Amino acid sequence: MMLSIIEYKAACKKTIIFLEEAGFILNKDEKNRIQVVEYGLDNLELIGLQLVEYINTERCCAKELVLFRRQTCPEHRHPEINGKLGKEETFRCRRGIVYLYVEGIPTLNIHAKLPIGKEHTFTVFHEIVLKPGDQYTIMPNTRHWFQAGEDGAIISEFSTKSIDEKDIYTDKEIIADCNRIVEENI
Ligand code: ZN
Repeated sequence: MMLSIIEYKAACKKTIIFLEEAGFILNKDEKNRIQVVEYGLDNLELIGLQLVEYINTERCCAKELVLFRRQTCPEHRHPEINGKLGKEETFRCRRGIVYLYVEGIPTLNIHAKLPIGKEHTFTVFHEIVLKPGDQYTIMPNTRHWFQAGEDGAIISEFSTKSIDEKDIYTDKEIIADCNRIVEENI
């Protein structure tokens, strides 16, 4: 199930407003290629994210990620590809609160709310709370997932090359290579 063009446009508009209110300036081209990721789950409100990619070369990638209230990026890892280390990524919170979960000692009473019916697709619970100005680096092939707090969140992501179709999701219903929706695909 794909997003309708109406849902896609609404998510884009909300993303642009959210970024502009926080002082981020996007050029026209960037506004036209905002990605709305719903992972093929048709539950964008709870599981999904919006992003704008500034650059993605062989060695460097930078994006802004926008999460609306309680929206979750599902658990995944970035594996080694053809003998090359997987993606290393740094998340810097710019606005709102981000609850980030990585491998390690599970945190009791986590702040995130697991999406109902999808609880079994989350397996790492070591919580890192990111507020504006905080950042965290995720090493290659480490499972992670994150959720925005009640006011949504903006995250700047700095990483090595992004090859999204190679990401491995814990939720087997997610099809990694068809989860990017941009207007030209609708
Ligand atoms: Zn990741």
